[in-house]
Parts: sequence; C-alpha cells; structure tokens
Amino acid sequence: MNDALRPRPASPLVEVVDERFAVHGVRLLLKRDDLVHPQLPGNKWRKLAPNLRAAVDGGRPALLTFGGAYSNHLRATAAAGRLLGLPTVGVVRGEELAGRPLNDSLARCAADGMRLHFVSRQDYRRKAEPEVLARLLDEAAAAEAYVIPEGGSNALALRGCRELGRELRGMGDVVAVACGTGGTLAGLAAGLAPGQRALGVPVLAGGFLGAEIRSLQAAAFGGRAGDWTLAEGFAHGGYARVPAELDDFAADFESRHGLPVERIYVAKLLWALTALAESGTFARGTTLTAVITGRP
Ligand SMILES: *Cc1c(COP(=O)(O)O)cnc(C)c1O
Repeated sequence: MNDALRPRPASPLVEVVDERFAVHGVRLLLKRDDLVHPQLPGNKWRKLAPNLRAAVDGGRPALLTFGGAYSNHLRATAAAGRLLGLPTVGVVRGEELAGRPLNDSLARCAADGMRLHFVSRQDYRRKAEPEVLARLLDEAAAAEAYVIPEGGSNALALRGCRELGRELRGMGDVVAVACGTGGTLAGLAAGLAPGQRALGVPVLAGGFLGAEIRSLQAAAFGGRAGDWTLAEGFAHGGYARVPAELDDFAADFESRHGLPVERIYVAKLLWALTALAESGTFARGTTLTAVITGRP
C-alpha cells in the first residue's frame, strides 16, 4: 500500500509542566499530532487519508480542492498527491494572483506538482453551487477529479478525525483543539469516551461555527456526536492575524517547552487555554489535553 494511505501508529502524548496551569491544579498534556505523519502533519493527514483512499479506490485521475493563497489544506493536498503519484489541481481564490510571482505557500504547492487554477472571488464564493462547480471543473480541465471541499472537511474527513478522538479515550477530561472549519473538532468529539469533553477554539471571528459543526456532524454521523463546546473570543482579530503579543506568547511557549508553535492555529489554542486556566475555568484536578494539529 502507498505510504500516504497506510494506517499510522498513534501520535505521541506528552505531559508538560507549566506553572500557569499547575497553580490551578490543572495537568497539561500535549497530543503531538503534528508528528503523526512525516510529510502530512496533524489534522490535515487525518482529514485527507480517508479521501485519498476513496479517490484511489474510485479510480479517479486527480484530486481537486480549493483554498486561499496561504491555505495549509492546499499545501497538504499537494504533498499528498505527490506521495500518492496522483495529480492535484488547486483552485485558488483571486484571479489577480495569476499574473504574479507565487508566494511561498503556493510555490510549495507548485513544487509538489499541483496545477494552480486561479478564479475570481465571486466564482470562489459560489463554488459549492452545482453549476459553478461544474464550470470550474471544466475550466480547470479536471471534470473527473475527486473533489475535496475547501478546508477538507467532508464526512470522510470527520471519520478520519474520529480516529484521533479514539486515540485520546481516557486521556484527559477536556480535549482542546483549534478550529478553522471545525471539521477536526466535529470528528474528534465523536471519538472520545463518554465523560470526556471536547473544547474548540475558533481562530476566525464570526460565531457561525457552532451551526457548521452541527451540520458537519449530521452529514457524517447522522446527528450530534459527543460532548463539545466552543470557547469564543480568542481569534486575535481574525484568521491569520498574529499580533505581537500572540507571537511573543508563542515564542515563550516554544522556549519553555521545546514545542515548535504554529502561529495561525496552535498559538491561539495555547493562548486560550492559558487564559482560561488562569481565570480558573477548569476545576482543580482537571487533565487538559491540547491537540497540536500542525507545525510551523
Ligand atoms: C487546518 C488546520 C486547523 C483547522 O482544522 P479544521 O478542521 O478546519 O477546524 C487546525 N490546526 C492546524 C495546524 C491546521 O493547519
């Protein structure tokens, strides 16, 4: 079996001693899911692997997905395609980017063999509408491609993330994860044991995420699954915004614990957990497991 598809051993779970948690009687564990696969880190591998299997089993000639110019999901899909020997097409938001030099993120996609197809913001916004999608596939010469939604969160992806929850059964009273689309939280919560609670920290400001997670869970599991809540208010101004105080916090966490802290998601998660612990949100005796979903 191709290495990108092979089941992986459970990612490491390590305890760190951090006085900001310890003084409140909270144990902090880090689920190092950034180490789950050497080339496809963390939740991106969890979400992609079942889709890659479906694409290969269905004899599809290519994978096609969507993202902005800095999308981790586009990068992971490009890397997965290279590992599998399956061509990939990335539909990228912003036709004005077509004539410009590629940024580092898109350059890495291209280096992994991804064919980039730039589309207008209007088409991008409407990409889930059947006629718009059909036209985009046609324009990208990828009519037979296996289509993965933006952010990679479909029903198969949630089942992949449910495995992450199952690995964490009994490993913490509260299991916390950063949320973009919420697909990882939605799957993770479904895999935890009864009595464990999943806590999501949205990195986008907005407040629509709860409804999206409910509809993702309905599509994947037929209804609400597991015990989960969201901790809002830690987006630091919105997606990919990294104010200096957050960057300093992340650098300090790196030097305390030797963990490379990815800034867009993981830094916001760790900040939120530290703030919640310091304000006494977690009962004394709580074991808190932070899922490290990616690396810088
Ligand atoms: C993509 C990503 C997430 C968000 O995952 P969702 O399933 O979209 O909520 C979290 N952490 C990292 C490091 C990511 O790259």
